[in-house]
Amino acid sequence: MQTNNLQLLAATNNKGKIKELKELLADLPFELKGLNDFANISEVEETGTTFEENAILKAKGYANQTGIWAVADDSGLEIEALNGAPGVYSARYGGADSGYDKKNEMILAQMAQTGSENRAAQFVCVMAISDEKGEIKHLAQGVCRGKIAFQPGGTNGFGFDPIFVPDGYENTFGELSNEIKQKISHRGVASAEIIRFLRDFIII
Ligand code: IMP
Repeated sequence: MQTNNLQLLAATNNKGKIKELKELLADLPFELKGLNDFANISEVEETGTTFEENAILKAKGYANQTGIWAVADDSGLEIEALNGAPGVYSARYGGADSGYDKKNEMILAQMAQTGSENRAAQFVCVMAISDEKGEIKHLAQGVCRGKIAFQPGGTNGFGFDPIFVPDGYENTFGELSNEIKQKISHRGVASAEIIRFLRDFIII
């Protein structure tokens, strides 16, 4: 397949995710685009009940609207003692407008209420890549297992990072460096697989 100057859409408004993909794709012949490079794009609603469904909806929906290859992801935190919550509803947990200080405090309070000693949790990320016709070419999943801290720690990262301690570490993602997080995180693992796919199956 011909790939010179293939345009690839990072189908997200999250500047952090676009920056991360730009770095990962730096030595590949892709022209990376963001949603704001296109006019009149309608937001693709995350109406699925799984990470896969939402990643696929977004990759297909944005590829169809822009006419170029698109990578989209959906991710969230699953906590065993809360039966997998907040899961696919992570961004909306406790209300879409409530800040993460509040969401994190709410999760710690819910954990205390359960009385469970099980603090196991995992971040999950599913990435889908679609061609320009809206056909899904590859799905990648990254999982990062860890534990919920007893109190929030650190200001790095975003979202639930201050309450998540990845396995093999004693500090939260909020306290660990970006370099460490990128290497071991759910999104880091899923992006690495998407990059391998792009290298192996597209570039000739
Ligand atoms: P989405 O994948 O952009 O829909 O994000 C889902 C939500 O999951 C985010 O808004 C955060 O609440 C949470 N989340 C996903 N990845 C991370 C992460 O790496 N750190 C902290 N929170 C995350």
